[in-house]
Amino acid sequence: MLDPDSESRPWAAQQRADDAPYRRQIAYLLSHSEFYRVKLQAAGYGGASEIGGLADIAKLPFTEKDELRATRSDAEPIGAHRAAPMRSIVRIFSTSGTTGTPSYIPLTAADHAQWLRISSRSYSASGLKAGDRLISTYNAGPFVAGVGLDAMHALGLCHIPIGSGNTERLLIAMQQLKAEALALTPSYALHLAERARERGIDPQSSSVKRLIVAGEPGGGEPAMRARLEELWGAKVTEAMGIGDIAATLWGECEAQDSMHFSGRDFVHFELIDPESGDILPLDDGATGELVYTHLAREAAPMLRFRSRDHVVVRTGACPCGRTSPRIRCIGRTDDMLIVRSVNVFPAAIREVVGAFQPATSGPISIRPRKKGFRQNPPLKLVVELGEGQAGTEALAEAIRNRIRETLLVGTEIVFASYGSLPRSDYKSKLVDWSEAE
Ligand SMILES: [Zn+2]
Repeated sequence: MLDPDSESRPWAAQQRADDAPYRRQIAYLLSHSEFYRVKLQAAGYGGASEIGGLADIAKLPFTEKDELRATRSDAEPIGAHRAAPMRSIVRIFSTSGTTGTPSYIPLTAADHAQWLRISSRSYSASGLKAGDRLISTYNAGPFVAGVGLDAMHALGLCHIPIGSGNTERLLIAMQQLKAEALALTPSYALHLAERARERGIDPQSSSVKRLIVAGEPGGGEPAMRARLEELWGAKVTEAMGIGDIAATLWGECEAQDSMHFSGRDFVHFELIDPESGDILPLDDGATGELVYTHLAREAAPMLRFRSRDHVVVRTGACPCGRTSPRIRCIGRTDDMLIVRSVNVFPAAIREVVGAFQPATSGPISIRPRKKGFRQNPPLKLVVELGEGQAGTEALAEAIRNRIRETLLVGTEIVFASYGSLPRSDYKSKLVDWSEAE
């Protein structure tokens, strides 16, 4: 463990320890953040004493990404939530916003040091050690993943940055430099193994012994993980971050039983029901959306920020000694489809279909027939077949039945030949809206 005192602290003690920094952060928000001063006043809170401590957090309003965007102006391009003077900001990341205008994520030196610590905890959890040769494939550019790259340096790894969309160079570097680990998205790990085999390179007998997968859900799905581990002869662990809160905020350890929370002392998180907004207890197996609150952020602190990440919680003791609850992300609340009042996550469908390997290869594509998240059954599902496999009616029926039994949704299965569904080297899209009317 990088920070044993913190990482092995009992979770109840962590909650008690977080109360004082939370109260200080609230006072800081009221004095430094115009966005939160206005928002909390509108919610009926004039001062820190009325807001109270962590035990009372449920009464406070959530923060939505769109609210932050709405306060941007020419005079204040970051937004009214900027809470530190521009002169004290040492890094400004940006996101590739869907509206065409980027959102900016500012960090002070103290913020950057915290993010670096958080990322370093996550990468250490995966078992990486100083001197390990790791190839990264993130085109960090303007994105917060840049702090993940800083963490690789801080941990003393032999970091070989290759970036995305550069498969040829990656395979050559992997062989020549005998890389021991790869950091990439799970869909790219799959794609890369296929490309390697086409070039006569057997990934299983390569020098790569660890895959650290991030950037999209999937690496923790049992079938996807088993496939990647078999293809690569390597151990697969997951990591996950969120731009507005911290890079690489969660990291899975070598026990491979979901991702530990690496943001202790810096970030508080809650699990909520995305529809009612109620806080859910962190029980083993609980599912819900993650909501985050910074405890000591300077440049852009967030209070009850809705992540839209939908997760499953694991709480049993972990052999690594880390005591935080663990999570596995099963999709975005935004990606959720509702089929005859049943909530369906595209990644959950992929997980069920993935169990049919090698008859199937892993990639799927959901093709909704109408616009919007409410769909009528059967839901059209394109399933890619495994290499040299035939799409029989018996296989289609078996997949339909398994999805109905596990996810309570009726599907229509259409097979696609091996290699025909897109494999992006960044985030793979599981829902294709081109047939929606
Ligand atoms: Zn662990």
